[in-house]
Amino acid sequence: MAGAVEPGFRGARRRLVETLQDKGIKDLAVLRAIDMVPRHKFVPESTRHRAYEDSALPIGSGQTISQPYVHARALELLELTGGEKVLEIGTGSAYQTALLAELAAQVFSVERVGALLDKSRALLAELGVRNVSVLLGDGTLGWRDFAPYDAIVVGAGAPKVPPALEEQLAEGGRLLLPIGTREEQTLAVFTKHGGQLARRDITPVRFVPLIGAGGWPPG
Ligand code: SAH
Repeated sequence: MAGAVEPGFRGARRRLVETLQDKGIKDLAVLRAIDMVPRHKFVPESTRHRAYEDSALPIGSGQTISQPYVHARALELLELTGGEKVLEIGTGSAYQTALLAELAAQVFSVERVGALLDKSRALLAELGVRNVSVLLGDGTLGWRDFAPYDAIVVGAGAPKVPPALEEQLAEGGRLLLPIGTREEQTLAVFTKHGGQLARRDITPVRFVPLIGAGGWPPG
């Protein structure tokens, strides 16, 4: 990734990678992506000194960038090999988007908050990330133009699988979704075989709510 080399943060980023390895992340491609992507650019100036702690941080508009361990675990579960077309719902800071761009061929990312998307679009351009397309809108409806997707990753918690996302997942594809209540969810991975989704529960998580037609009502 162009612009990723900033000696000041390199050591901190390397230590984060080691922390994630200690916590059980094994996928070398995922660890390499975390080592490449400058997370400090994706958090507000005021929290930059904490960018390489393994913690979630506020990113404005009432949203949060997830804990690096959660991103790493989610990306590991997608088992990407580099050739995939991926749909991401909830661009947020675009940190996970940039990680996905390192791990897959093409990334399509949908965000409903315009202010976050504007910032993300500019940052991805600044970093020279070229295999990402972003869209402002309700991601519970997916992004029909480029479907089907080999993998879909939802960065906000939903009460159920949004039907449009199920439809837009390719046969054999994986859908990652925090599913549960507005406050607490289970990170679940769904695989599509014979047109049917099979669910595997991974771990309890707390994500911000997925707001939209196939998610929660606003408020
Ligand atoms: N992976 C992101 C997570 C951001 S938080 C990061 O680490 O920065 C989840 C994001 O989902 C928020 O930015 C929120 O605005 C967005 N979101 C919630 N409901 C959405 C919907 N229906 N469509 C698109 N984005 C949505």
